[in-house]
Amino acid sequence: MKKRLYIISNRLPVTIEHIDNTYSYRQSSGGLISAISTYLNKNGKDEFSEKIWAGIPGVEEKVWNSIAGDTDDNDFKYMPVFANAKKYEAYYNGFSNSLLWPLFHYFPSYAEYKTSDFEAYMAINKLFADSLSRQLKEGDVVWIHDYHLLPLAGMLRKLIPGLTIGFFLHIPFPAYEIFREIPKLWQREILSGMLGADLIGFHTIEYASYFMSSVEMTMKIKSDGTHLTWQNRKIKVDAFPVSIDFDLFNDASQTESVLAIKQSYLELKGDKKLIFSVDRLDYTKGIPNRLRGFKKFLDQNPDYMGKVIFALIIVPSRDSIKQYADRKKTIDEYIGKLNSTVGTLEWQPIIYQYNHLTFDELIALYTACDLALITPLRDGMNLVAKEFVASRKDEKGVLVLSEMAGAARELTDALLINPNDITEIAEMIKQAIEMEEPEQAMRMQAMQQRIKSYDVVTWATDFFDQLHQIKKLQMEFNVKMIDNFSRASILKHYAEAQKRLLLFDYDGTLVPFSKFPSMASPGDEVVAVLNQLALKPENDVYIISGRDGGTLEKWLGELPLGLVAEHGAKMRVKGTGWKSAAPAENAYWMKSVEDIMAKFVAKCPNSFIEKKEFALAWHYRNADLHQGIIRAKELYEYLIEHTATMPLSILNGNKVIEVRNRGISKGIAAEQLIAKDDYDFILCIGDDQTDEDMFKVLLDNKKAYTIKVGQDASFARYNLASPYLVQSFLQTIIDYPELPVKIIDRG
Ligand code: UDP
Repeated sequence: MKKRLYIISNRLPVTIEHIDNTYSYRQSSGGLISAISTYLNKNGKDEFSEKIWAGIPGVEEKVWNSIAGDTDDNDFKYMPVFANAKKYEAYYNGFSNSLLWPLFHYFPSYAEYKTSDFEAYMAINKLFADSLSRQLKEGDVVWIHDYHLLPLAGMLRKLIPGLTIGFFLHIPFPAYEIFREIPKLWQREILSGMLGADLIGFHTIEYASYFMSSVEMTMKIKSDGTHLTWQNRKIKVDAFPVSIDFDLFNDASQTESVLAIKQSYLELKGDKKLIFSVDRLDYTKGIPNRLRGFKKFLDQNPDYMGKVIFALIIVPSRDSIKQYADRKKTIDEYIGKLNSTVGTLEWQPIIYQYNHLTFDELIALYTACDLALITPLRDGMNLVAKEFVASRKDEKGVLVLSEMAGAARELTDALLINPNDITEIAEMIKQAIEMEEPEQAMRMQAMQQRIKSYDVVTWATDFFDQLHQIKKLQMEFNVKMIDNFSRASILKHYAEAQKRLLLFDYDGTLVPFSKFPSMASPGDEVVAVLNQLALKPENDVYIISGRDGGTLEKWLGELPLGLVAEHGAKMRVKGTGWKSAAPAENAYWMKSVEDIMAKFVAKCPNSFIEKKEFALAWHYRNADLHQGIIRAKELYEYLIEHTATMPLSILNGNKVIEVRNRGISKGIAAEQLIAKDDYDFILCIGDDQTDEDMFKVLLDNKKAYTIKVGQDASFARYNLASPYLVQSFLQTIIDYPELPVKIIDRG
C-alpha cells in the first residue's frame, strides 16, 4: 500500500508576489524543493500516494486563503502553518539564528541565550506538531528539515507513535565541547527531539559522530557508531552529503541565454584572469579573510596588478540581525579601500555586487571564470562549490575550497585551504591561476565524477532507502516487552513441564548495578525467590555470572543451586565442588594484561581493575563517562594489538573491558548445562552483551524462553525493563498454581 509523504521545513517553498492588490505565488526554485522534486519525478515517482509540504507560508491566513486555489499544479500540496508574528520572530531570528546557527558554526561568542527565545522556539515547534497531528496518521512518512525544527520529531512521535520519521540537518553539528555550552535542559529538549526520528541524517560522517557523542554525554545513551536505541526504538544516524542536479548545471552551461551572458562577462574580463565567489552575507562565509587573502596575493605578486579581477557577489541575508549588518559594513569598507588604494582608473581589482543573481547569470559567472574562491570559516556543505564544478563542461577552471566546508570531504581534488590562513589563501590563488589546463581537467573530471555518482537524486534515494531499512530493522529487533499474553503462556508451559532448567545472570539481572561490584550482594527477597525456585525437585537453577567463584559462593553458596563463575570458566554443580573449564596456566598473560590495565587506571581517574581467577576486568562505571568511553576504545585496541598471539578473548562490555581465555563463554557453559538432562522448559534471563551468547544458543529452541533485562534490542525473545521486574516475574512463577505432578517413567 502506498504511503503519504510529508515534507516539513520552516518555510513553505513558495514565493508570494503582490502586484496590483492581488496575491499570487509560484513554487520556489530553492535547493531543497528542487532536490526533492527531482527525486520524486525520477526514482520516487510511484512511491507515495500523496505529497504534502508543511511550513510557514510567510503571509497571513486571509492572504493565503485568497490564493490557495492556485496550488494544485505544483509537485506538492501545501499545508500552511500560521504562527504569531512576535513568537515567530523569537523562534526564527532569536533561537534559530542567534543561538543555533552561530553555535553550530563554531561562533560561540555570537550565541545569545534568551529563555524567551527558547520558549518561542519550543512553542512554534509545538504549533507544527499540533497542526500536523490533525492530519497525520500512523504509517505516514515524514521528513523534517533543518535546525529550526530540531524538537519536532520527538513531539510528533509522542502524538502518533507509528509514524516513519526522517530528520536531516542542513548545517554542521558541532563537537560536544561546543554543544555543551547550551543550557542542559535545552540540550535535552533538542536531542530527545531529534531522537524522535527513526533516521537522522547529516552532511558528513564527522557531524554524525559529533551528534552521537553529544547524545552519549547528555542522554547517557551508548551507540554502536551508527545505531542507538532510545525508548525502545532503534535509530540510525548516518551521513548523506546533500548534492545538486548534476545534469541541470552541466547542460545549463550550453544554453543560449547563458552563453549570451557569459560572452558579456568574457568581454569585461578581456585577457585578465577572473576570480569569483558567491555567498549569502553571513559571518560564517569568511568573506573578510578572503579579501585579505586576495590583497596579500596582489601585494606578493605585483606582476598580477591589473591582470586579475575578483567578482565578489554577496546575496542579501538576515540583515535584521546585528552581526549580519555589521559584517556588511566591514566588507563594504574593505572593498572601497582596496579598490581605491590598489586599483587604477583602468582597473578595479574587485567588482562587487550585493544582490541576487538569476540562474543564468550564476551559470554564466561559473563558466566564464578561471577560479572559484570559496573560503567559508564553517559551512554545512556549500552547494556553490558543487554547482561550479558541475557547470564546467569544458573541464577548465580551478576550485579553491575551504577545508571547513562539508563539500571538502567529497571534493578532495580542489585546492583545499584553511580559511583562517591568509598566506595560504594568497598562495593558492597564485597556484590556481597558474595551473596548467591538463591538471585543471584532471581535477575537474575527478570532482565531476563524484558529484555525478552522488547527485541529488542519489542523496534522496539513499535517505529514503535507509529510512525504510531502519523501519524493517525496528520490526526485527523490536524490544518485545513481556505482555500479559506471553506471560500467561510462559507460566502455563512452566507449570506443565516435568524438568526445567533456569539460567540467571546475576548483576543487572537479579540485582541492579551498584557503584562497586563488592556492594551488590543479594537482598533477602532475591535469596528467597532463588531458594523457592531451587527447592522444587523439577527445577535445576544456575546462576551464570561473570563474577569470580569466591564471591558467588559467599553470597549464594548456601542455596540448593548451581553456580557458573567467570563467564563459564568455573562451574559448581549443586552439591559438588568447583570444576574448572579453563587451563590453569593463566599467570603468563595475566601479569602483562594487568600492567597494561594499570596504566589505564592511572590515565582514567576512578576506573579500577577487577581480578578474577581466569579473567581481568577494567571497569569505568565510576569514571567520567566521556573519558571512560575514549579510554575504553584505546584500551580495547591496544589489547587487541598486544595480545594477538595469546589465546584470549577481549570483551567490550557495559562500561567494562574484560580479558579472558578464549573458548570460554556463557553460551558454551549454557550448552553444557542444557545437555545435562532432557529439559522440557528452559528459562534464561540476562542483561549484558555476554548474555547474548546464551540467547543465541537458545534461539531456535522451542522449549526455551529467553529474556533480556533492559530496553535494548536483543537475541532474546522478550524484554523486561528492570531487575525489580525480574524478581516479581519469578515470584509470579513461584505463586502460579502447579498442575498435579504426573508420575512419568524416565527409565
Ligand atoms: N544562489 C541563488 N541566488 C543567488 C546566488 C546563489 O539562489 O543570487 C544559490 C546557489 O546556486 C546555491 C545556494 O544559493 O544553490 C547557496 O547554497 P550554499 O550551500 O552554497 O550556501 P548557503 O546559502 O546554503 O549557506
